[in-house]
Amino acid sequence: MKQLIDLDKKHFIHPTSSIKQQQEQGAKSIIKEGDGIYLKDFNGKTFIDAMSSLWNVNIGHGRKELAEAAKQQMETLAFSSAFSTFSHEPAIQLAEKIAAISPGNLNAVFFTSGGSESNDSAFKLVRHFWKLKGEPQRNKIIALKKGYHGVASASTSATGIPEFWEMADLTVPGFIHAESPYEQGTEKSIRSIREKIESEGRENIAAFIAEPVQGAGGVLIPPDDYFKEVRQLCDEYGILFIADEVITGFGRTGKMFGLEHCGVVPDMMTFAKGVTSGYIPFGGVVVSDPIHNVLKEKSTGTLFHGFTYSGHPTAAAVALKNIEIIEQEGLVANSQAMGDELLKGFKQMKQQLDIVGDVRTTGLLGAMELVEDPETNKRFSADLKVAPEVIEALHERGVICRAVTYEGTDIICFAPPLIINKTQIQTLLEKLHDAVLAVQKQLGDRVSQ
Ligand code: PMP
Repeated sequence: MKQLIDLDKKHFIHPTSSIKQQQEQGAKSIIKEGDGIYLKDFNGKTFIDAMSSLWNVNIGHGRKELAEAAKQQMETLAFSSAFSTFSHEPAIQLAEKIAAISPGNLNAVFFTSGGSESNDSAFKLVRHFWKLKGEPQRNKIIALKKGYHGVASASTSATGIPEFWEMADLTVPGFIHAESPYEQGTEKSIRSIREKIESEGRENIAAFIAEPVQGAGGVLIPPDDYFKEVRQLCDEYGILFIADEVITGFGRTGKMFGLEHCGVVPDMMTFAKGVTSGYIPFGGVVVSDPIHNVLKEKSTGTLFHGFTYSGHPTAAAVALKNIEIIEQEGLVANSQAMGDELLKGFKQMKQQLDIVGDVRTTGLLGAMELVEDPETNKRFSADLKVAPEVIEALHERGVICRAVTYEGTDIICFAPPLIINKTQIQTLLEKLHDAVLAVQKQLGDRVSQ
């Protein structure tokens, strides 16, 4: 164990982690195995994976069917290219399946290896589309503050959380951020998008991108009418609407895709994470028939955009099996039902504890805000590190969760695997109650000292 921690410090630069913390305290947990909703570390300690790791292990850990699908595909054809119109069966079948489960007229898929690549691809496809349509000046993308779209150059630029730009002062031009509907409400956000469109020049806007629920921003669920208004606004200006369903796709919110809650169909939809439940890196962009038609009719030369692993046969075979499991086991309905249970428990906790503010879920995507005064929503001072303390208390009690603390918030995020059952939800809620109570007591002691 000690040796692994030393080697980790010496050689492993962790993604989205504090290098200082790693060097001073060593790796937080070295995880060895996963089974269902549980992870086990090298010390033999078991945790509830209340975030499905990175909002992605939708069908839970340790599913042999996915290992078997990968094995079979690797033995038959582990990899071959999809460049230069070569093709293979797993990618064709998966493209057909994704078209079948995607809303409305989203029927053609470009494959990638993850969410950032999917969003960068969407931005390039959108700009390519406008070029083919004879409007090359339409190259600006409007996104939302607190939105998260990834860390490649364009997806970092679309991300509305400045910490992600500041680490390297790298953003590409042409990305504009409007007010998010969370806290601001539908009307203010729509007005802000409209103002951006007008000030940047309506003839210069290519697309608007948003997550159905802002995940990394703190599980910010928009008002029910929000995306209907977004769709109307985009139609009014002839702007394409890209839905980033990287977190919300594949059952996470209690529907197969998040936007289905409001019956709105985007022009493009990006996905990753839950498409393979994280068993193998994969993602993609689904485009509508009218966009596909323009590509088919007006494109003459090569589409100079493609990743070596676009449509990777083994990843596609795993995705197909994963989607089959989601459908056969009714995991979308379970996500809705268990999400309701989680919310019931959150609401009870709000009655019982003094520091619980807003609580919310949509399917198994949820959040609990911790505040100094739930009546006024007054936030804790950031140096109290309330949410990180709760995460620590949860970790001690065998729950892995994640905090969002941008702009002085203290939000605990939840996204357990979609296979979770009622008893497991109760256990998770009990541990959460215990952890929040412990931190609440500590805060009380500190205040009274
Ligand atoms: N979009 C959203 C909404 C995400 O949550 C994420 C990842 N958390 C991404 C895009 C980027 O995906 P990846 O990390 O696979 O590149």
